[in-house]
Amino acid sequence: MDWHAIEKNPSTFQVPPNLPDYCAARAEFTWDDVRQELAGLPDGRGLNIAHEAVDRHVAAGQGEKIALRWLGKSGTVADYTYAELQAWTNRFANLLQRLGIGRGERVFSLSTRVPELYFAALGTLKNTSVFCPLFAAFGPEPIAQRLERGNARVLVTSERLYRKKVAGLRDKLPQLDYVLLTDSDEDQEETVLSLSRLLAEASPAFIIPPTHPEDMALLHFTSGTTGKPKGAIHVHNAVLTHYLTGKYVLDLHPDDIFWCTADCGWVTGTSYGIIAPLLQGVTNIVDEADFESERWFRILEEQRVSVWYTAPTAVRMLMRSGLKPCEKYDLSALRLVHSVGEPLNPEAVIWGEVALGLPIHDNWWQTETGGIMIANYAAMDIRPGSMGRPLPGIEAAIIQRTADGGLEIVKEPNVEGELALRSGWPSMFRGYLHDEERYHKCFIGDWYISGDLAERDADGYFWFIGRADDIIKTSGHMVGPFEVESVLLEHPAVAEAGVIGVPEATIGELVKAFVALKPGYEPNEELNLELLGFARKKLGSAVAPKVIAFTETLPKTRSGKIMRRLLKARELGLPEGDTSTLEENK
Ligand code: ATP
Ligand code: MG
Repeated sequence: MDWHAIEKNPSTFQVPPNLPDYCAARAEFTWDDVRQELAGLPDGRGLNIAHEAVDRHVAAGQGEKIALRWLGKSGTVADYTYAELQAWTNRFANLLQRLGIGRGERVFSLSTRVPELYFAALGTLKNTSVFCPLFAAFGPEPIAQRLERGNARVLVTSERLYRKKVAGLRDKLPQLDYVLLTDSDEDQEETVLSLSRLLAEASPAFIIPPTHPEDMALLHFTSGTTGKPKGAIHVHNAVLTHYLTGKYVLDLHPDDIFWCTADCGWVTGTSYGIIAPLLQGVTNIVDEADFESERWFRILEEQRVSVWYTAPTAVRMLMRSGLKPCEKYDLSALRLVHSVGEPLNPEAVIWGEVALGLPIHDNWWQTETGGIMIANYAAMDIRPGSMGRPLPGIEAAIIQRTADGGLEIVKEPNVEGELALRSGWPSMFRGYLHDEERYHKCFIGDWYISGDLAERDADGYFWFIGRADDIIKTSGHMVGPFEVESVLLEHPAVAEAGVIGVPEATIGELVKAFVALKPGYEPNEELNLELLGFARKKLGSAVAPKVIAFTETLPKTRSGKIMRRLLKARELGLPEGDTSTLEENK
């Protein structure tokens, strides 16, 4: 594809970027230096994520600054300063103590984005218990399974969600001692308690117990895009990555207003919807409502959001809405836009430039990596379609497996292979819950193998090709769905595309595209032929789809990822496998 680099012009930077010289920062980098920028618990008692995110700022005299600005569904706005957040999270930690919940024990949440969810997350970390967020939209079975697999002792949820999804399954969950209701003023049963009452009764003072950097802090289930979700274990030391990426990738400065649109039900909503912005001491916007294009643009305008972190699926929905935000809304405060979760099609990067006045910066990471690993930085030119370059402190490589079970690092540029990271960075997952064997399979020697395929160009930019499971083998070619989907998206009629391989006797697999159209376009034979021709012209006949099927929507995970494995299973009439994270499964 022929996309021109988007060059950055230092004279247009509104603030001096935190990472002005990528190569110099990489050369000098040590994780010890990052650790020095954090406070640590007083008296050498260790390192605790919540202390760094909240208490450190209060101790430094920033207590009056707004930490969280909560935007309720119906228009309510509630601000919490760092000092108030300190008190609320202390109260939550104290109530856990009162309930006898201690170190390493699991506190789950099943909640919409209400302030209590944020108090619970940070209060749990203060108590050295383990926080595990779930999507509020999960059905009862996936919830019960996760609570059971994760040994949940406490669940923070609302009365409605509890009655609808959990109450009926309590007998399957003997370890679940307490349910704390975020919206009930009174206790409901002996073990179903009012969170507001408990918070009110708890002291706002709390001393964080000694916390070892290797103490377990977070348990995150993966998105389930490629199969049954895995429970990834993270430790308090992950705070170093959260801090560094907030500084270098999100480029947060003290006066920034930051908004991460991800729900806490997946890792982005915790690492970047809670922890990283607070570590940088900025004001963090939390919107309770679900996606709605006009509302989102209004929030960007009214809240004067300066740094925005969202996902390709949301960007594609905004593109589809046909709104011209630059004309209708004042987005002058916005200076940096980031995206994660799926490949960001070059078309979307360019759309950002026109519609938002800013290109969108893609970055790559996984539940397992705990934080952003490869990114486009504020001061670095963007190559649309590339995920960018590895974070200072992170060594990324393209590897190929060898016959003896080892690996070879690919030295030459532009060669396809598996994307691997040298193990040992602070936020690397420390295990898959109850699945030691699978965890060990992710490593070859010193390297963590991500399961994604990519290429590295001569300047060290990484280009995503596809998940190893999604790669299509057709007429002797390896085709990554992303490449085909991106070309289809260049056509004005196409809103979204999902591409799979369908087994075919002569060519191995046939490339098939499922296409959702933008409003105003009708699925018909003429458009079908036009799209086939359009793709063939751009991709060549070996790679272009042979068949296009129109569809209203594509199956997606709740975090917005296209589930190609479901498109394939449905196409071939095979079992659908684990669909607990499927969006349409309400
Ligand atoms: P599961 O592991 O359960 O199948 P998942 O891999 O989708 O689900 P996550 O950890 O949420 O779960 O997602 C990480 C994956 O998302 C990456 O391995 C990659 O395939 C994809 N991804 C994330 N960011 C990007 C990006 N910027 N470009 C391309 N792909 C991305
Ligand atoms: Mg994965």
